[in-house]
Amino acid sequence: MTKNLLKIENLHATINDIEILKGLNLSINEGEIHAIMGPNGSGKSTLSKVITGHPLYNITKGYIKFNNEDITYSEPEQRANKGIFLAFQYPVEIPGVNNIDFLRLAYNEKQKNSNLPELDPLSFFDLINQKAKHIHMNTEFLARNVNEGFSGGEKKRNEILQMSLLDNQLSILDETDSGLDIDALKNISTSINSFFDSKKAIILITHYQRLLNYIIPDFVHIMQNGQIVCTGTAELAKKLENEGYNNLVKQKIN
Ligand code: ADP
Ligand code: MG
Repeated sequence: MTKNLLKIENLHATINDIEILKGLNLSINEGEIHAIMGPNGSGKSTLSKVITGHPLYNITKGYIKFNNEDITYSEPEQRANKGIFLAFQYPVEIPGVNNIDFLRLAYNEKQKNSNLPELDPLSFFDLINQKAKHIHMNTEFLARNVNEGFSGGEKKRNEILQMSLLDNQLSILDETDSGLDIDALKNISTSINSFFDSKKAIILITHYQRLLNYIIPDFVHIMQNGQIVCTGTAELAKKLENEGYNNLVKQKIN
């Protein structure tokens, strides 16, 4: 039987007292890939941050359940430990923090929380090198500071490395495809597809149908003005590419 993983009902959220999410509903089962598309400023990144518990956002109404457990007001660390991962649209640079140390800290924190053994620097080095090679990432990036001086595409690849390392049940990828050249896009899509399994779910936030040629979503949602206004299958993204948001959403509302 399919099991529900994420359930969001009538979610309203504000930042600086401005309401950005205005009654959003979304339900995701294990084994499903959902794409979220929609014009700039419609609230896609806000949704991703609200699901992961970003402290600047306030939820004013509605709820978020993960594996049937209410996480609406849980701390971000708790959500991460329960199995929610976010690859940021704009990954931050952390000068002075070595990438491999950062990754090991995140990994060991998760291991500790699941009562699994932590890894010493040497064993972790082997694990992360293997993961980096798997996603065709130059291992030079492991020795550098987190995202410091990385190009847009390299930052995105570093997010995918974190995703595959932390191996969470729900991964939200916020415009991971933007800034990637064609080879990198194919490559990262292959990594995402091989990472995915029937116990996991992925939310792909994207502007481009192109990504969805490589990673086929079960559902495509269109967000507008803080709500999901239209849901369809992968065909919807193709229609969107031809018709644009305005025409498509108008047709749906009329
Ligand atoms: P998307 O990812 O769909 O492009 P966002 O979630 O980034 O949209 O933004 C949704 C809306 O929230 C935008 O209109 C944006 O200007 C607004 N917003 C985001 N952060 C803030 C903030 N700190 N203060 C006020 N408005 C904000
Ligand atoms: Mg965004």
